[in-house]
Amino acid sequence: MIRTRIAPSPTGDPHVGTAYIALFNMMFAHSHKGQFILRIEDTDQQRSSEESEKAIFDSLRWLNLHWDEGPDIGGNYGPYRQSERSAIYTQHVQQLINAGHAFHCFCSAERLETLRASQAANKQTSKYDGHCLHLSAEEVQTRLDNKESHVIRMKVPAGGTCEFNDMLRGTIAIDWEHVDMQVLLKTDGMPTYHLANVIDDHLMQISHVIRGEEWINSAPKHKLLYDYFGWKMPELCHMPLLRNPDTSKLSKRKNPTSIGYYRDMGYLPEAMINFLGRMGWSMPDEREKFTLDEMLQHFDIQRVSTGGPVFDQEKLTWLNGCWIRENLSDEQLYDVLNNWRLNRSFIRQFLPLAKTRMEKLSDFADLAGFMFQGMPQLTAEQFIHKKLSEEEVKKILQFIVWKLEDLTKWNKEVLFAEIKQLAQTMELKIKDVMLPVFVAIAGTPNSWSVVDSMEILGPNISLARLRHAVSVLGGFSKKGLKKLQKTFAEIA
Ligand code: GLU
Repeated sequence: MIRTRIAPSPTGDPHVGTAYIALFNMMFAHSHKGQFILRIEDTDQQRSSEESEKAIFDSLRWLNLHWDEGPDIGGNYGPYRQSERSAIYTQHVQQLINAGHAFHCFCSAERLETLRASQAANKQTSKYDGHCLHLSAEEVQTRLDNKESHVIRMKVPAGGTCEFNDMLRGTIAIDWEHVDMQVLLKTDGMPTYHLANVIDDHLMQISHVIRGEEWINSAPKHKLLYDYFGWKMPELCHMPLLRNPDTSKLSKRKNPTSIGYYRDMGYLPEAMINFLGRMGWSMPDEREKFTLDEMLQHFDIQRVSTGGPVFDQEKLTWLNGCWIRENLSDEQLYDVLNNWRLNRSFIRQFLPLAKTRMEKLSDFADLAGFMFQGMPQLTAEQFIHKKLSEEEVKKILQFIVWKLEDLTKWNKEVLFAEIKQLAQTMELKIKDVMLPVFVAIAGTPNSWSVVDSMEILGPNISLARLRHAVSVLGGFSKKGLKKLQKTFAEIA
């Protein structure tokens, strides 16, 4: 039985890369009449959130991806949320300790930091030096009795090479000397990704692990864990990473990465999934436009090519246009628009704001057009400021992006408080800081309260418009950005 899974961590906005990997897992499982599972890897309690988990379900469903088992629908191999599986991990880690495959490590954060720094100074790979590897059983017990803070690490062979197979790349060999004595259980008793992932893949009877190529270097640790437990390792398949047009790894600075951004910008889920299906994969007849069903009928994982597929927004936009024009009747297009933003619940949110400025119904288009736009048409002249230079305005906008991009709550009170705080630390008037924000978001300084607009437009569109404004003002060089980040860290 073929069983695959997607295992996202619910930290932040669901990423297009998650949808891409989910798509290929679903295709592989369903084209073999197998099952595709959704597991939530929320062992990082500080960064995980319920909102983000819900956003994962919503975004994947929006794309018409569906799973056969998961935290929201249950299944025979649950629970499907790692935070609910703690007892399973502690019990398994004990097995490894008893068999001598794992050990207690009491090293302090300071010691590890000194070690890291000295390895960096000697240009060595940073890894644990085995300081606690040979503590006697008595010493370990005494220190545990004294409630000394500790982690559990796995043992790693001192020499030799680890070999494993990748479905797309054949045999991969990594020397053990490059593999760290990985922490398995953290000081808070929570498992790390590696431990939980291996145990869950085994217990959930995952037959094929299809994931991004950034995990290749983790495979030796996983293989070792499977061996220690005496389990068979699933087949591994590392998918090529999505890339920016300049071939660097896809990053939100150069390209919006949140699935929600594409939904809010008005891309059709059919076009989006079609586009993701073309990332490193093609139909046997090379046609560009195809449905999820057509992809399923012709799916063959061996057609994945490992050269980095470029997430080219222009291509996506072109494809989206084809889908709109060729696949939607006028009636259907009306319904799609209605579903998107031309509806009561969306418009109702800013109607009171528009109303106070309306004299004729036709004023509505001028006042509220920006609420339906993608990126407003902007020029650098629009940002000319009585008190601040263009450079300062650009800097402020970039600071605001950094301040807002990791917010877990997105509402006007929080937005206002964040911007106000920035103004205070920069010793500027809030009014002066807000002005460019108005232009970036609404395309004009003469709109209603901009934090209201931002709340309603949501983080995806608001942040994209702020970033767009920075680039209209010329953007930053890599070096300039690094320098700015330093200044930001100092004031933040
Ligand atoms: N939780 C990991 C992630 O967020 C899963 C990686 C894997 O598929 O093994 O990407």
